[in-house]
Amino acid sequence: MSTPADAQRMEKIVSLCKRRGFIFQSSEIYGGLNGLWDYGPLGVELKRNLKNYWWRVTVHERDDVVGMDGAILTHREVLKASGHVEGFSDPMIDCRTCKAHFRFDQLIEKKGVKQCPNCGGKDLTDARQFNLMFETHVGAAADESSIAYLRPETAQSIFVQFKNSLEVSRKKLPFGIAQIGKAFRNEINPRNFTFRSREFEQMELEYFCRAEEGMKLLEYWKEERLKFYESIGIPREKLHVKTVSDEERAFYSKGTYDIEYDFPFGRQELEGVAYRTDYDLSQHQKASGKSLEYFDEVTKQRFIPHVVEPSAGVDRTVLALICEAYSEDQAPDEKGKMETRVVLHFHPRMAPIKCGIFPLLKNNEGLVAKAKEVVDHLRPHMFVFYDESGAIGRRYRRQDEIGTPFCVTVDFETLGEKDEKLRDTVTLRERDSMKQERIAISDLLAALSVRIA
Ligand code: ATP
Repeated sequence: MSTPADAQRMEKIVSLCKRRGFIFQSSEIYGGLNGLWDYGPLGVELKRNLKNYWWRVTVHERDDVVGMDGAILTHREVLKASGHVEGFSDPMIDCRTCKAHFRFDQLIEKKGVKQCPNCGGKDLTDARQFNLMFETHVGAAADESSIAYLRPETAQSIFVQFKNSLEVSRKKLPFGIAQIGKAFRNEINPRNFTFRSREFEQMELEYFCRAEEGMKLLEYWKEERLKFYESIGIPREKLHVKTVSDEERAFYSKGTYDIEYDFPFGRQELEGVAYRTDYDLSQHQKASGKSLEYFDEVTKQRFIPHVVEPSAGVDRTVLALICEAYSEDQAPDEKGKMETRVVLHFHPRMAPIKCGIFPLLKNNEGLVAKAKEVVDHLRPHMFVFYDESGAIGRRYRRQDEIGTPFCVTVDFETLGEKDEKLRDTVTLRERDSMKQERIAISDLLAALSVRIA
């Protein structure tokens, strides 16, 4: 259950996201478009770091996974075969009093009577199915024949391209195809900031295997995915594995786990890990009339592979990273007086900016030139930020608030003015401990690289 303190924490997070340029409401100057968000200068960096790291561990660091990048606009027949045209819907209820629409499971119940969560009204319509897909037309003729959809998940293009990917990669089972990309769902009630959006990104892996390996690989991928979240700074105790019950599970799935995170607004799904059997490939083979079989050269058998799918949300994970990182502590100001410090404790590999670089004074040519040299030295290897304005303490605070794990200060010692031995050394300050160490500029790149890898 979330408490008023959690709600207040969430409010602060949303406000910080806007103030510091992580996430803005989409089309804000026109009043906003509900359920759509734009990522600002820092949000885009955080999101890229997450996607790049997922790609690295899922594709580059494995021999058994290849990548792809499919089109967003999807042929109607693809989504008919997958079951989305017929069944990708939520039960929707309207409140006749305030005219709001809700998903059936969002109604509140008092003394056994369902009520509108908006106005408390009890005059509600019956539930009817509302398809979540966005429909559009491809080409000049806007008729039945030109209907296409914005994909509601990235997975289907992976299935449809299974044969091509298999042939070009010459992989043997088990092997996977990974994709990161946009997905669209016309959610009845977008809510909880970016958690439930109408346009979002997914990181999906379809891991193809033999039928007898399915259940074991489901366990394997659940564990791999938990390790992934820990490796980006989400602690194991805040993650929960929910076994999706027989009633809730898709009829073709033999086992599904939801990996959930304790958001300030409650425990909610970050990712689904599902054993989808051979359902998708079988459906597409049937509907397209094209073989999607795998030929086993050893046993000479032909069969449709089964698949285990870890499907994660980029935006939900970004939100979890921000919620997990947000904290307030006490730290001394310039004069040694304690003040509240807002810090985002991002794991260094996720942090948007890796290192802040400051000359002690902005009106000293030697200091400024040296600091800019350090910027040029580090820039090809990591995203750094140069800041010369304000007292050093304030510059540290600004970086703490956006989660920059390291700051480097160029001072008079760097110029060799106090002690020749300290020439070309800088102070390296660490965000969480606020500890400072003296380090040679020539050692800086190596020292930072291992910490942000
Ligand atoms: P939910 O039950 O929360 O609607 P789902 O079970 O329908 O999610 P999946 O179809 O399994 O979600 O999609 C895989 C992942 O895609 C989810 O775990 C989530 O991270 C992400 N995702 C799905 N819908 C949304 C959305 N509306 N906004 C943001 N991310 C989403």
